[in-house]
Amino acid sequence: MSDCIFCKIIAGEIPSFKIYEDDDILAYLDINPFTKGHTLVIPKAHSANLLETGDDRLATVMAGVRKVAAHLKAALPCDGFNIMQNNGAAAGQTVNHLHFHIIPRYRGEELAFKAHPGDMAGLQALCGRLRMA
Ligand code: AMP
Ligand code: ZN
Repeated sequence: MSDCIFCKIIAGEIPSFKIYEDDDILAYLDINPFTKGHTLVIPKAHSANLLETGDDRLATVMAGVRKVAAHLKAALPCDGFNIMQNNGAAAGQTVNHLHFHIIPRYRGEELAFKAHPGDMAGLQALCGRLRMA
């Protein structure tokens, strides 16, 4: 897609800190890292987000995410990692080319993903409404 910044990275039109590439995916360092080694994994074929990506392509990308995450864990090394994937501006998606964030985590280094205790009755009602056939 001509106006997509990640397609431009794939095409080599803008530089990136590439750490892995094969026929289907590309992995490179996020230029605004949450933690040391924060990496993005993207499919080479443009699709905007999770819902616009077919199952086969998604499976390929996820296998790549796993491969790159295993490499980062050993090579950094880090103690763990989070996978994040934003869909839509309301969820914080700023680049509309499917991408998975691999966010390395280090023991003792806080990163705020703030949870709060759930209301059990509310969860029960929501579960009843959302349960899939
Ligand atoms: P998201 O908010 O999930 O859409 O994430 C987009 C990510 O892309 C952000 O974390 C940005 O820091 C990152 N980003 C944007 N432009 C570049 C670039 N040229 N090279 C590497 N990372 C980028
Ligand atoms: Zn793109």
